[in-house]
Parts: sequence; C-alpha cells; structure tokens
Amino acid sequence: MAHDPRQQAKLSVYSRKTRKCSVPMNEQGKYLKVSQYYGENVYNYHLSKSLSLEDKDSLKQVIDGKRTITKDLASKIANSVMDWAIAKGATHFCHWFQPLTGSTAEKHDAFLSFDGDRPLEALSASQLMQGEPDASSFPNGGSRATFEARGYTTWDLTSPIFIKEAANGKTLVIPTAFVSYHGDALDTKTPLLRSDLRINEVMNKFCHLIGMKDVQKVYTTCGAEQEYFLIDKAFYFGRQDLVMTGRALFGSLTSRNQQLEDHYFGLIEDRVLAYMQEVEIELYKMGIPAKTRHNEVAPGQFEMAPIFKDSNTAADNNQIVMTVLRTVALKHDFVCLLHEKPFAGVNGSGKHLNWSMSTDTDVNLLEPGHNPHENFRFLAVVASVVEAVYRHQDIIRMGIASHGNDHRLGANEAPPSIMSVFLGDTLTKIFESMISGGKYVHSARQILDLGARQLADLFKDNTDRNRTSPFAFTGNKFEFRACGSSASIGYPLSILNAAIIDVFEETNKIIEDEMKAGKSADDALMAVVIKWYANAQAIVFNGDGYSQDWVKEAAKRGLGNLRTTPEAIAVLKDAKKTNVLLRTGVFRESEISTRYNVMLERYIKCREIELKTLHQMVNKQIIPAAVEYKAILAASVKAHKDIGADAAVELEVLKSLADLTRNIHAQSQSLITQLEESHHKLSEEDLSKKIGSDLMPASFQIADLCNQIEELVPDEKWPVPKFYDMLFIR
Ligand code: ADP
Ligand code: MG
Repeated sequence: MAHDPRQQAKLSVYSRKTRKCSVPMNEQGKYLKVSQYYGENVYNYHLSKSLSLEDKDSLKQVIDGKRTITKDLASKIANSVMDWAIAKGATHFCHWFQPLTGSTAEKHDAFLSFDGDRPLEALSASQLMQGEPDASSFPNGGSRATFEARGYTTWDLTSPIFIKEAANGKTLVIPTAFVSYHGDALDTKTPLLRSDLRINEVMNKFCHLIGMKDVQKVYTTCGAEQEYFLIDKAFYFGRQDLVMTGRALFGSLTSRNQQLEDHYFGLIEDRVLAYMQEVEIELYKMGIPAKTRHNEVAPGQFEMAPIFKDSNTAADNNQIVMTVLRTVALKHDFVCLLHEKPFAGVNGSGKHLNWSMSTDTDVNLLEPGHNPHENFRFLAVVASVVEAVYRHQDIIRMGIASHGNDHRLGANEAPPSIMSVFLGDTLTKIFESMISGGKYVHSARQILDLGARQLADLFKDNTDRNRTSPFAFTGNKFEFRACGSSASIGYPLSILNAAIIDVFEETNKIIEDEMKAGKSADDALMAVVIKWYANAQAIVFNGDGYSQDWVKEAAKRGLGNLRTTPEAIAVLKDAKKTNVLLRTGVFRESEISTRYNVMLERYIKCREIELKTLHQMVNKQIIPAAVEYKAILAASVKAHKDIGADAAVELEVLKSLADLTRNIHAQSQSLITQLEESHHKLSEEDLSKKIGSDLMPASFQIADLCNQIEELVPDEKWPVPKFYDMLFIR
C-alpha cells in the first residue's frame, strides 16, 4: 500500500479513547467538591502560620499600595511562601512574566542550596522580589542598546503566587513585572498596573465627589471569555501550515459548516467534555474560577469563561488559561488552536473582555441600580465610557491589532475594525431624551421622568443583545468583543483604562465646577451625561455592525476604520493619538516606540512565515498532487482514445487541472519573488504595508486556487488533512 499519511491519521483518530484524568478525591475514594480543592495551589498569606497578624496587616497595606515593602517583611514572606511550596512538594521556583511576545516566559531555579556541604531548601527575600533575566533575547523594539542587556523581573504583590504541577514535579510560580535597566516596561503587566493605580486615584475622587465617602479603592474588573478550536493531534501534525502559523492557509470548505447553527450550545461530545473537565480541574487548583463551557458557532470551536476578577489578576489568569488549554489538549491527543482564524470560511475566535469598575464597598459602577440617585451615577459613568471610546477609538483599535485578528476584524463574521458602542434602544433613548431636554417614554407604559423611575427594572425587560458590536453594553458591564483569541489582554486593557482615566479627569472637573456653582451631585452628574453624550453620540451604533451600510454610515460619521495591522499600528506614530497614554502615565514615550517596533516586526515576521509556508506547500504538496492526477487522467484519455472510446470528462478535468496548476505555479512563484524583493528593498514600514495591501490578497488568491484543485483531485490522493477531517472527525 502506498504511504498515505492522511489516511493513517484518520485511522488513528477513529480509534482514540476518551482520556480519564485524576479527579481530586478524598481518602475514601469519593470525589471532592470543587470548593474543597479550589485554590489549593495558590499561596494565601492569610493562612500562613509563620506570619504574625501584624505582618499580614502590613502585607495587605503593601498590596493596597498604601506603603512599600520592607526587606524584613519580604524575608518573612519569602520564608512563608517557601515553607508552603515545599510542603506541597515544589522543588523549583520561577519568576513568571509577560514579555511582548504575547505569551509568557519563565526561568526556573531549584530551591536547592547548601549550608557548608549540607543540602537544604532556600528562597531568599531578594530571590522572591527580583530576578535578572537577560533582556536582550526578548522583544525590546530597539528600546535599549544591546550592551544594556540587563532586565529585571519584580514581584507583583497584587497577583497571587501559585504552584504549577507537571508529571514529575511542581514549580512555584511568582508573577512578576518585567522592566529594562532604565525602568521601561518590557511587558504587558507593568502598564496595566500603572493604569490600575491611576484608575484608583481618579475614580476614588469621582466617588467622593458624588458622596460615596466610604469608598477607599476603585478598580477595573474583567472577565475574559476565551474561544478556541480543538482538532485532533494527528491532523495538526499533518499540516505544516497549522504547525508553522497556527492557521490552515487554504482548504476547501465543507458543504455543511455552520449554516445550520447546530454546533453553538450543542451537545458536547465525550472526548471534548473530558478535555474541558481536566482543564477545569487544573484551573480550579490554581484558583482560576472557570464558570462556563460550551460549543461555539463553528464546528470544532468551543468557549470557556471564568468568573470576573480585578483586571490584573484576570490578565494573569487568562495567560494561564491559554497555557492550560494548550497543554491539556495534547494529553487528550488534541491540539488547541488559539489563532483568531484557523479556518477561512467559518467563524474565527475572539476573546470578549467583559469590563467594568468596582469599589471596595462592592458597588459596580456600571450597575443601573435601584434608585434615581444611583441612576444618575450610572448614566454619567456610561456616558464617560462612551466619550472615552469615541475620543480614543483609534488607539483602542490599535490595542487589538495583530496579523491573526486582521482575518476577523472587518471580515464578515466578527466585530468590524470600526470602533462603535452598542447601548441598546432603551439606554440610547434615555440619553437622547436627556440631551434634547425631553422626557423618556418607555414603550407607552412607563414615563421616565429622568430620575423618577428605576432604570434597573427597565433593563430587565430590555435584554437586547448585539453580537456584531465591538464594544457592547450588556446590562451591568461593557463587553469589548474585538480582541483576538490569542492576544494578551493586559495590553488592550491598559489602553482602555488610559482612555477612561483621561475622560474621568474631565468628568471630575465638571462635577467639581458644577457643585462649586451650587448644583446638587445629581445635577452635576446630569451635566456630565449631557456634555459627553452630546459630544460622542456618533460612536453609538445599535444596528448590524457586519453590514456594508455601516461601513458607509461610519465613514459619514467620521469614525476611524483601520482595517489592517499596518494601518492600526501607524496610530502609535501619531503623537496626538498616543498622548493620552503619556498624559495618564500608563506608558512612557520610549515604551510607545518600543510597542510600535515590536508590533511591526511581529506582523512582518508572522506574515513572512505564512507566505513562505504557503509557497512550500504549493510546491511540495499541491502541485505534486495535481501533477500525479494529471498523469492518471492523461493515461486514461490516451487509453480511451486508443480503443475509440469517449474520454470527454477526463479531458475536461485534465484541462481544468492543467490551467489551475499552471496558474498556481506562476502566482506562487511571483508571490515569493515579490516578497524577497520587497524584503530587501523596502523599509520595514513599507514592507508591512506592501504585505497588507498586496501580498496577503495575492496569497488569498493562491489559497483559492488550492481549493479549486482540492475540488478536482480524488479524495484519497489529497496530501493534507482537509477541513472535513479537522472540523468533523474527533
Ligand atoms: P453574558 O452571557 O452576557 O456574556 P455572563 O454573565 O455570562 O454574561 O458573563 C460573561 C463574563 O462577564 C463572565 O466572565 C463574567 O464573570 C463577566 N462579568 C460579569 N460581570 C462583570 C463585571 N462587573 N465586570 C467584569 N466582568 C464581568
Ligand atoms: Mg458574553
């Protein structure tokens, strides 16, 4: 039998068994409740026996940003952390950080140390607090000369320390920020932490101004819904493009894909459910509150969502979620694809950032509330957010730019590259009547005499939804839906927070001025609503964000439409647009050029890998498959002609295939020549534009030719796993 990897892959997938993992149990062999083992691998200083009450109190103050940590306290905590970790069986510790690669980095060190020649375990305060990885091997966007290779990781006290289990041992993981020798942020965490501090300052002031005097702390909250694809490992390794680029660069769509909408919320198959369960067990142990699991819209696509937390912890948690999704998948002979668009033609994957602001008195500032007084606060907060998204739409769009996300944004099945805010009819009408000084009349039943009625009740029967909006109000939070599934959420969150800080500084000023002039807090809030909503209403759009009409309408309204990454990152070179990041103290000037360089370089590298991989697959797999079939057809034609039989079909197929083969050969050759020339001749900036505007469209044409050839070549002669295999066989 001829060597047929695709057939062999299928056979191995047919015989897969559902994996059973070890579910946490008690000594009697009964399953533990999740609440009994939740967070067992998270260090909790409250439970430490070696720390005194005073130490714990001091630590809390440090965490709340009220004082800095002393060397003495750090030593005590290091001991407490080490004792806990060693008792749990950890042998190593690592500083875990989030460089600008979009993923995480860690360097492990053993606790092993020596007292003379006696081996013992040790973790010093300085080891806990600071590390010195070589920064030159991480993306730094040229922010430092290479001789200044030193970078620092510093312990982020606000994010929990945890233990990561592997088959043969455990590692203590210390979340850290990663900065250069000069203190420039080389990671996604540092700007997010800075934005947290500033949000706290500005929003605390807001709360106090309007009479919420008991509030001491305000923070942003985030729940990141994570979409992903699962395909069998055997198919994954059968496709070079998936391994090299994370997406299938071509592939003919199956006749049934997602038209019937039967996958969304459908029955979760055993093998997939077993996988999800193991993922959840891992996450629970590390204190990540996985809450929701379900099938997504495309075949083979799924989603998990955690219960929301403060944004910094949520950002760390989401990184762990992505890692666990990937590593557990392999144990189940799956590969988890986090790419934004692994399969053209079916839905891509996003990460929906549910975002709000909370006080330490447990008030969600985006909760409509039950009395008129709260309503005004709520309306003013919403209006300020609308103004922030309007004013800073381009930089917010930039924050979600990536080569992968380019396939989603603006494509027909994801929130578009135009930023807009969905408020729903009810809220929109309320705002509109406020700015026009009228009364809000609700569905002929209720008249809302602005302030006299209860908004919360109004929302209960107005749960309108809009899946096409990039930034949608969903009852008591906003859902920023345009983020890419593989992205680190720290980056878009810190940019969004900067935009919010910027506007709320002005909101506070308006309130102060109004109240100085003798107005009540409610009237001052009303003034905020009117000012911001009247200014920013162009960004509010409740219709179908996928429609071409909206593209035209948005242009009329003067909204930005940055369709590709090269266009979006150009915003970072526009001082008017980046100023908000500096003014609010969330980024430094040098960090902005760093981000630009890193994003540009990343875009180019990823696209070049895609284009080269496509060229190789065309040459080594697609053309040979076509040629082989052509030879068979030609032989058949000849044989038929020899005996005077009809070979019309063979001839027709042969002719089509010959045309396609010639075309694809020429186009693929031309693409690679253009790429090589551009790579050598053009500046990075021009190269990125050339790739975005010319080379990518050319590659889509080649993909289309591949798909046409796939349609002609007999199924068993196709050299790579097909969409059918990957999306439907499990
Ligand atoms: P929906 O189905 O409307 O998307 P869910 O209630 O299922 O809403 O929430 C989706 C995500 O939003 C979850 O991760 C949830 O924890 C998160 N979420 C809910 N409330 C908030 C909030 N106040 N701030 C941030 N995220 C929130
Ligand atoms: Mg949702």
